[in-house]
Amino acid sequence: MEIVESSIGEILTRACGYLRTVCSHSAQPYRGCALGNSLCGAGCYVQHNRYVTRGRAWGSFLEVRTGAADSYRRSAARERRWARANRGAFAVYVSSSTEPFQPIEPRLGVTRRLLEAMRDDPPDALVLQTHSHRVTEYLELYRELAARCAFRVHVSIETDREELPGLAPHASRVAQRFEATERLKAAGITTWITVSPLLPIADPERFFAWVRAAADAVVVDHFIGGDGSANGSRTLRTQLPAAIAAIDPEALTLDYRDRMVAVAARHLPGRVGVGCDGFAGRFLR
Ligand code: SF4
Repeated sequence: MEIVESSIGEILTRACGYLRTVCSHSAQPYRGCALGNSLCGAGCYVQHNRYVTRGRAWGSFLEVRTGAADSYRRSAARERRWARANRGAFAVYVSSSTEPFQPIEPRLGVTRRLLEAMRDDPPDALVLQTHSHRVTEYLELYRELAARCAFRVHVSIETDREELPGLAPHASRVAQRFEATERLKAAGITTWITVSPLLPIADPERFFAWVRAAADAVVVDHFIGGDGSANGSRTLRTQLPAAIAAIDPEALTLDYRDRMVAVAARHLPGRVGVGCDGFAGRFLR
């Protein structure tokens, strides 16, 4: 793993593409991802972004953006004005193309300092998206953020299976992520589980009952339509589809997603979102 410090021009990127319906800006405290060789990295759509990878293998590099907090402090007022005029609200997504809780984060505190800068000069809304159980480490900071803006945490839990044959292990075990989600919710932090990308679920009734107990809402997102290509073609080029098909070929289809959504809706009526609409908080009625 190559880890380097990288300079940063602007931490706030004006959202485009599907993210535009979810937020006005994204912010990436790191570039690359040390979790890239774990299970979630197999289908991770960021590996297809040449601007990020610059030809490097996904999971082999991590750029640490130590100036993230200072950049936010410099640009927040300007970007807030722009967002309110052009997008209705200054809503920031941390992060759309890296993991904010990299294994090195406890030592470097890049995400923590960025969140502190947001606490001091808050956006209108802030979404913290993670695949890691380490998300609970800044609980006190979340309480402060929640008092100052519309703050919520998204924890990705794609399946109830601790292993998928043929793929590397999860970076954070499923049970660890559920426990983290329960802790966040118990602390009064708005917490959603993002089943993204949806993987074969061994016991859907039990899984969504667990989601109901641990989170305030759930988003179910299939790689078809959810990986930035219309038909899932990016993900179909990775090793993920074969691993899914070996367990349940139907899980490669949107019919499977709809079946899981129906189970989710029984457990969390009015609190189930699908795909991009779900990430934006537009739930099924
Ligand atoms: S943690 Fe997120 S960014 Fe990193 S490999 Fe997994 S899905 Fe991709």
